[in-house]
Amino acid sequence: MASEGGESSPIGAFSGGKGGKGRRMWKKVKYQLVEYHALPSYLKDNEYILRYYRAEWPVKQTLLSIFSLHNETLNVWTHLIGFFLFLSLTIYTATKVPRVVDMHSLQHLPDVLKKADLQKIQSEIVACLRSLPQLPNFQRLKAELRSSLTSMDMRPSLSRWKQVQLFSTCLPHRFGQADNASIMSATSDDVSNMIAPLLVQPIPLWPFFAFLGGAMFCLLASSACHLLSCHSRRLSYIMLRLDYAGIAALISTSFYPPVYYSFMCDPFICNVYLGFITILGVAMIAVSLLPVFQSPEFRPIRAGLYFGMGISGVVPVLHKLVVFWNQPEALHTTGYEVLMGVLYGLGALVYATRIPERWMPGKFDIAGHSHQLFHVLVVAGAYTHYQAGLLYLKWRDHERC
Ligand SMILES: [Zn+2]
Repeated sequence: MASEGGESSPIGAFSGGKGGKGRRMWKKVKYQLVEYHALPSYLKDNEYILRYYRAEWPVKQTLLSIFSLHNETLNVWTHLIGFFLFLSLTIYTATKVPRVVDMHSLQHLPDVLKKADLQKIQSEIVACLRSLPQLPNFQRLKAELRSSLTSMDMRPSLSRWKQVQLFSTCLPHRFGQADNASIMSATSDDVSNMIAPLLVQPIPLWPFFAFLGGAMFCLLASSACHLLSCHSRRLSYIMLRLDYAGIAALISTSFYPPVYYSFMCDPFICNVYLGFITILGVAMIAVSLLPVFQSPEFRPIRAGLYFGMGISGVVPVLHKLVVFWNQPEALHTTGYEVLMGVLYGLGALVYATRIPERWMPGKFDIAGHSHQLFHVLVVAGAYTHYQAGLLYLKWRDHERC
């Protein structure tokens, strides 16, 4: 079925080059936007949005409709832009954030070096860099290290990343057993810069990346769902399952940074929370995907599970406040978590009440209806969580265990 009804005229594409092939084809094949009452039952979702529906378009036209105006256009783009925002944040986190953390660590380096046994450091570095000759003094070690690192940098077989990884697995382990017999009075900044990353174990970033991955999956799945669901009952069914799974992934991965960075110094508590939320997340995704759970009698259970999953985040946050009540970072991160809760809560309220379109049906068909507001609030909530994650990283880097 190409189109139904046809009461409202298409409002057309707002993209496309001048006289391009795509544009000519777009003009030839006119798939009309239809009104709510003309929709097949599986596409009837919000009776306050009256017009500009796509119904059972071919896949190609459905995909191309990302560039045309209908009542799902802004639903697609709000989460697609959110996806690209989180992709940028992931790239930023991967490339810039460790450097910020390292710079912070450097402030403590003179203290670390003051306590260190330099004779031991020298021998350990030499042991790590087997190619270096036995060195008579520290000044020469410094010079040798600098030239050695530069020359290693230029060797194509050993990337700088690999080199840093090599040192960081070798040196901190050995330094862990170094005694504090001799005291160094003056430390050169050059040396600090060279060996700082080797002395200070970086804070693991995987919980932060798990959250960023969950957020990107949720936003992309939602965007695809809004774009493609109108194609057929079958695709609508698949895309909705994917959308549910995305929400479950976002909720469960959102727990990882606060739980991990709050309790990383207490592995038992940390693992209990992480294990719990992982099991709950996997169960939620299974619930979202298995057809048996899609029957109407399971709907309250599904809704209850989402709600329970979200609200269970209160437990580790309260736990964090009790354990770290005297640390300002604990309050600061909780502030972000409360703001995130308010944004998500507001989003859920708008979603459930279908405000504002219920007040003026038909006035918000293209722009301003509840689902678009809900999408914007979800992106804002996830962004707040990202900011909280950065704060956790800085806190852990500063405090350590
Ligand atoms: Zn949506």
